Formats: sequence, structure tokens, C-alpha cells
Amino acid sequence: MTFYAAPVARLIEEFEKLPGIGHKTAQRLAFHVLNLSMEKVESLAGAIREAKQKTKYCSICSNLTDVDPCAICSGGSREHSSICVVEDPRDVAAMERTREFKGLYHVLHGTISPMEGIGPEDIKIKELLARLRDGEIKEVILATNPNIEGEATAMYISKLLKPLGIKTTRIAHGIPVGGDIEYADEVTLAKALEGRREI
Ligand SMILES: [Zn+2]
Repeated sequence: MTFYAAPVARLIEEFEKLPGIGHKTAQRLAFHVLNLSMEKVESLAGAIREAKQKTKYCSICSNLTDVDPCAICSGGSREHSSICVVEDPRDVAAMERTREFKGLYHVLHGTISPMEGIGPEDIKIKELLARLRDGEIKEVILATNPNIEGEATAMYISKLLKPLGIKTTRIAHGIPVGGDIEYADEVTLAKALEGRREI
């Protein structure tokens, strides 16, 4: 049984469904909302509705966008000869923050994971292959996460690309910048050694 008025209880319940939000945080958020002016509440509700209504997946790269094709795919200043393959739209945002990459992206929306019953056909691999057909792409950079699923997905894609003769690279992994070799785990250290380059 709840000690709150029904609409308040419902609001708490909705917040509790969000990732990483427990009951206490849900209560705090609900009371925060109740203390807002009506105008601010409308703005919050409007932002949620608009984000959901106006975003879709880019028909080329599958990134989240409000225009199709997305700004990156249609951007004249981007190099249309390389594609960086990532798992999630958030990874595109992370790569963009580096300002290092000037090419295009392809968002897989997941990784191959037999344990969870996710096969190659469940993520956007065939869409990636379709983009490589016209011969414009010279390099595919596999930037899936350095965990078991991410590695397996990168290996799977690299095998598919081999016969196409497109240069396929994997992002390096190893010691984080500002990190300490002494405290790095063996796998990270081994990867760092494996990915060494001449300076
Ligand atoms: Zn796009």
C-alpha cells in the first residue's frame, strides 16, 4: 500500500522504471517535479515527448537523428572513404568529442551475443555490407567495445570484409591515458603490448 496520493505514487512508479533509479531516487525526482513551476513541468514533459517523436534512425548509418540522412552522412566536410563501426549512438557522440575522426559512422545497435540469442542478422551488419558495395569506402574501422561480444563482432565483420579487399582496422586498446602500468590488469597490459607501435 502506498502513503502517497495516487498521481504522486504513479509518478514515483514511472521514475522507478528508469535505468539506475531506485525507489528513493524515484521519490526524490517526483518531489522535485512537484516543486517545479507548471512552466518547467511542461518543458520537461515536452522535451521527453519531442525527443521520442522527432528522432529516428538514419537510413544510411543507423545513428539517431532528427533529419534523414543524418548531419554526418550528408555533411560535405566529412571524408566519405572511411566508416567507423560502433555499437551504439552514444559511441558516435564519444568519437565525435575527440574531433579526431573525419569519416562516416555505422551504428550496429548491439553486438553478436550467442548467450543472449543475438545473431549477426539481429544487428545492422547487412546494412554495413550494402554501404560497401559502391567501392567508395577504402577503410572500415571496427570500434566495438573491447569485451568478448565486441571482439567477436569485430572478428565476424573483419572476416566478411576480407574478400572485399577493403582495409579493415581495429581500434587499439590498452592502458588508459593517465593510467598506471602497475595497476593495469594482465589482459589490458597484454593488449597494450600487442598494439604497440613505433615512435
Ligand atoms: Zn547517417
